[in-house]
Amino acid sequence: MHNQLKMKFSSEQEYPDLSQHNNHMAKVLTPDLYESLRDKETPSGFTLDDLIQTGVDNPGHPFIMTVGCVAGDEETYEVFKELLDPVIEDRHGGYQPSDKHKTDLNADNLQGGDDLDPDYVLSSRVRTGRSVRGFCLPPHCSRGERRAIEDLSIESLDLLEGDLKGTYYALKNMTEEEQQQLIDDHFLFDKPVSPLLLASGMARDWPDGRGIWHNDNKTFLVWVNEEDHLRVISMQRGGNLREVFQRFCCGLTQIEDLFKERGHEFMWNEHLGYVLTCPSNLGTGLRAGVHVKLAHVSRHEKFGEILKRLRLQKRGTGGVDTAAVGGVFDISNADRLGFSEVELVQLVVDGVQLLVQMEKQLEAGGELDDLMPEQK
Ligand code: ADP
Ligand code: MG
Repeated sequence: MHNQLKMKFSSEQEYPDLSQHNNHMAKVLTPDLYESLRDKETPSGFTLDDLIQTGVDNPGHPFIMTVGCVAGDEETYEVFKELLDPVIEDRHGGYQPSDKHKTDLNADNLQGGDDLDPDYVLSSRVRTGRSVRGFCLPPHCSRGERRAIEDLSIESLDLLEGDLKGTYYALKNMTEEEQQQLIDDHFLFDKPVSPLLLASGMARDWPDGRGIWHNDNKTFLVWVNEEDHLRVISMQRGGNLREVFQRFCCGLTQIEDLFKERGHEFMWNEHLGYVLTCPSNLGTGLRAGVHVKLAHVSRHEKFGEILKRLRLQKRGTGGVDTAAVGGVFDISNADRLGFSEVELVQLVVDGVQLLVQMEKQLEAGGELDDLMPEQK
């Protein structure tokens, strides 16, 4: 049971200091809303204070808007919807409580994408998260639940065949060097150093129950018990994002079937799509991206505007919160919810094609004006 003694204090006495904060949660959580939600809990005992802790401890950055809250279980999104619906609406471009999400994991519906110029596009990757229904999510799960997710994952993934056949490596059985090599090669999640990860409770008991499963040539990988129960990743060198997406869809569908055969389905509903730990990942949970050389375009004054119009985001090549090195950026879809998987990958394919064209034009001493896109 959670701390009930706090209910002896008034809501005012318990209300967090959000005065320095720039995150979606802090924008929405008024003292009145705090008061009306503070005695609620989900069936597994996840409370409002658990939900908002990471956003209280991480005020954010004046220019970078973080979400400021994480779910502890599937029911979090229902029990605390007065807080989460506006956060979701804000974060996902006006997505309404009555809106329905669409799923499309048929790679045949993607147009093109097999020929992004490999002189510019160094690698291609598609990832998503999946949560197993009936278990608490990483910020709130127990050691036993976490280990059960790990066992289920190994059991299911071991049955993949052909070029998806692979092996599970538990973090606790790896040497420091092996881990660091996988991180440096962009295959493995970072160590739990991020304050966002730490404050959310996701790093408890590290490295217990965590690990990575991958096929022999490391083109299909599954992270177990990092930010989500499962993170499923397809990646390879070069610019064939289509092939990466085909493998992603094929592997992901097989994993879902294998879990179902064992009596476990993934958390999903018509409104939120796939239910994940961070509200920013709801819907598809999909991030399709490339590492691409954009030394010239990235210095252009319209770079930010171009990405916004193409519905793309940029990251450094070491992952979220890292800087770009040598003009190489991680360019990926900005949206997750309200668009299907195919639609999001299509935005990346079309957008990256245009960005590479722009880069070549600037290299040749030209201007961008004739290539400026409309808002997608
Ligand atoms: P996410 O959480 O969306 O999986 P992160 O930004 O946390 O992504 O990055 C995780 C790891 O994946 C990092 O090591 C990053 O360099 C690597 N990565 C992301 N995109 C690509 C890509 N297109 N090619 C190669 N590695 C990538
Ligand atoms: Mg990450």
